[in-house]
Amino acid sequence: MRETGRHFLQIPGPSAVPDNILSAIASPVVDHRGPGFGELGNRVLTGMQGIFKTQQPVIIYPSSGTGAWEAALVNCLSAGDKVLMVETGHFASLWQKLATKLQLQPQLIETDWRTGASPELISDALNADTDKSIRAVCVVHNETSTGCTSRIAAVREAIDASNHPALLMVDTISGLAAADFRFDEWGVDVAISGSQKGLMLPPGLSFNAVSAKAIAASKTATLSRSYWDWGEMLQANERGYFPYTPATNLLYGLAEAIDMINAEGLENVFIRHQRHATATRAAVQTWGLDIQCTNEDEFSPVLTAVRVPERHSADNLRSVILSHYNMSLGNGLAKVNDKVFRIGHLGDFNDLMLSATLSGIEMGLHLAGVPHQTGGAQAAIDYMKSTPKNL
Ligand SMILES: *Cc1c(COP(=O)(O)O)cnc(C)c1O
Repeated sequence: MRETGRHFLQIPGPSAVPDNILSAIASPVVDHRGPGFGELGNRVLTGMQGIFKTQQPVIIYPSSGTGAWEAALVNCLSAGDKVLMVETGHFASLWQKLATKLQLQPQLIETDWRTGASPELISDALNADTDKSIRAVCVVHNETSTGCTSRIAAVREAIDASNHPALLMVDTISGLAAADFRFDEWGVDVAISGSQKGLMLPPGLSFNAVSAKAIAASKTATLSRSYWDWGEMLQANERGYFPYTPATNLLYGLAEAIDMINAEGLENVFIRHQRHATATRAAVQTWGLDIQCTNEDEFSPVLTAVRVPERHSADNLRSVILSHYNMSLGNGLAKVNDKVFRIGHLGDFNDLMLSATLSGIEMGLHLAGVPHQTGGAQAAIDYMKSTPKNL
């Protein structure tokens, strides 16, 4: 049957791409070695420094976020190096598997997938590492499988308090431009991000922000690298160019996305995401369903993962909502498969889109026979009504 109206893509990435970014991407392809290209290159490279809140270089790869995960590890580390990783959820666990394939030795801090990374447990692990053999601490900023955000400033403090030289690597693939992230202030050494979440672009670009300490480590690290090598990239980037063909048309979109974020104001972007997350939790609490994240200090502004009651199927609920209301919600990944559905409230999003999203879920809960209290969408509307934006 023909679907009428717009599809609601409420998964936590890829997020919906606004029309002016789509039009920017639809520009003619240009010569990436031509005389004018460096201007676009400089514009996006500098613009991304603002988004990461850093004065240090940002590298842009034509790849999905996974590529930038690999880039962070292969540039800074050598085979057999120990890395401390916190398994906050599915994405942290994928990063750990990648590290293992690269012949690194992950030391894993496990969680119940319902909280962010514990600075205390990181501190314990670093204090126990008396010969300082841990080379990097790897944390996911916004764990997209659980809706928990780790407190990166507190992780930094834990590393400093242990007086440990390990690099701090942070995956902010779904956090950047949605949840506050401060590369320089938080003393992050490598930040990893991607284009298709808070940045409102299609998938296809990834990022590494790199500290001077990380660049110094890359000079002696010996894992094999070629495509991901920061050295040639940084050299070409000095004039706004790239060592191989960049994703030229996605860079047009990126320039547009940076302008849009700056026009709204980066801090306003964060406030908007927080507000929609709070409204969403008001709905979930009214429905009487459990939020996957149990630590209030770590609720994600990007997405909310919701648990369905025992013996009910989150996947069935999602498929009922897709077929009746033309809306896609995120599925439960790995350990929480079929137990959790995820509501993305990130990117180019507003109050009416959230009202419609939550209405669709509430109608879906009814049709799928998932026990709940009605009035969740109304509770979110009431919260949004009571907190109008400053015009
Ligand atoms: C989306 C995501 C990834 C994976 O990125 P890809 O672009 O799919 O390779 C990794 N980590 C987090 C936290 C994510 O949200």
